[in-house]
Amino acid sequence: MSEMAKLGQEFGTYVLQLTAELLGEERSESMSEMERRTREMLLKLGQYQIGAWLAMQEEQYPADVIECSCGGQAEYQFRREGTLLTVVGQVSYRRAYYLCPECHQGQYPLDDKLGLRPGEMSAEVESLAGMTGVQLPFGQGSDLFEALALVALSDHSLAKASQAIGGEVQMQEQEWIAQSRDEEWLQEQDRLAQRPERLYGALDAAKVHIRGDKEHPWRDMKVGAWFSTTAEPPQTPDEDWEIRATDITYYCDILPARQFGTLTWATGCQHQAHLAQELIFLGDGADWIWKLVEEYYPDAVQIVDWFHATEYIAPVAKLAFATDDKRQVWIKHIRTLLWEGDLDAVIQAFDEFTEHQRAGEEARKAVTYFTNNRHRMRYPEYRAKGYQIGSGTIESGCKQIVTQRLKVAGAIWELDNAVKVAKARAALLSRQWHSVAARREYLSLPLAA
Ligand SMILES: [Zn+2]
Repeated sequence: MSEMAKLGQEFGTYVLQLTAELLGEERSESMSEMERRTREMLLKLGQYQIGAWLAMQEEQYPADVIECSCGGQAEYQFRREGTLLTVVGQVSYRRAYYLCPECHQGQYPLDDKLGLRPGEMSAEVESLAGMTGVQLPFGQGSDLFEALALVALSDHSLAKASQAIGGEVQMQEQEWIAQSRDEEWLQEQDRLAQRPERLYGALDAAKVHIRGDKEHPWRDMKVGAWFSTTAEPPQTPDEDWEIRATDITYYCDILPARQFGTLTWATGCQHQAHLAQELIFLGDGADWIWKLVEEYYPDAVQIVDWFHATEYIAPVAKLAFATDDKRQVWIKHIRTLLWEGDLDAVIQAFDEFTEHQRAGEEARKAVTYFTNNRHRMRYPEYRAKGYQIGSGTIESGCKQIVTQRLKVAGAIWELDNAVKVAKARAALLSRQWHSVAARREYLSLPLAA
């Protein structure tokens, strides 16, 4: 009988045995129980299949010696058992074990060849656990993971998986930073890359509670985005500001602006931002944003997005006027002036309240803000060119990457963990999860192989 036929027969016997358990004397009494038991049976079949596949990968007659990385010859010892945590639960397998008499290093050629990680999560489990861990607090995530996958993982494992993916993003970023400093690579881009016609960059920040620093427990997680869009910009100030961005990618870190600029430049090089025919940056009024843009992209169009610009109007209206009617009339008036780009009139309107008993402070803030940023608020000109002036993209990026996951009530983060989880989330939202996770599959491969 052929190997395959023998395997098939064995498998068939096993299926029959499991089916008898499910449908025999001890039958389920309800549909739900039947579903649960069927899923457990499918896991067992999966374990059997993976076990059989691993046995096929192993050489039937292992070589007596193999080369060791030290230059010596590792000698075959025996077949040793290992346990893998896979998507169908624990799978045991046996593989040849070698020992080098020179350096006393043990070796498992099969583990190296397949990127197996005995005693740890498989790459596939790590990817799924990480995906769960970046969406939910680790405790909740671990409960959900077990309920859905029937594989028990501790909240610590979920944290580890999420951080591992974030760590991989960091490594990828280091490669990008190296490329962005490599003259030859840049020249190659210049020759080969397709120049983006119109590319948008956006920058923002959100606070994260970090452990350890009593003086400054809330640190800025800076978030950047690169995107393009074919959506028409809104034609009235009251339209919906959500930008339907295509090809959006996010990056983030807790870093001083100078180092974050390095990351902005490096991720920008991956999008040929420096070669774009039109590069448009959107941000709020924060100083660090515009300094960074001026340093790296001096020719970019700078726009204070409409959402942030209009945020200064309502607080003054609230304190300056006694009735809601009057407030609404004033707000509408200022929004129209701003929409039409009449910054002189906008600033003058706030100026009238700078000595106001209650609204004075907010009004003075607004005057400073609009004076400092007026050259970034030429909205009629931007509209005429078809530029997006809303910041829905980066606003929602900040919310999704930072606020929703890292700013949950009571959460205090270790700096390194917060950064890694945020980077993993950014990869997920940028649809880069699978490419990042794939980079981790063959981690245990020796570099020379
Ligand atoms: Zn050796």
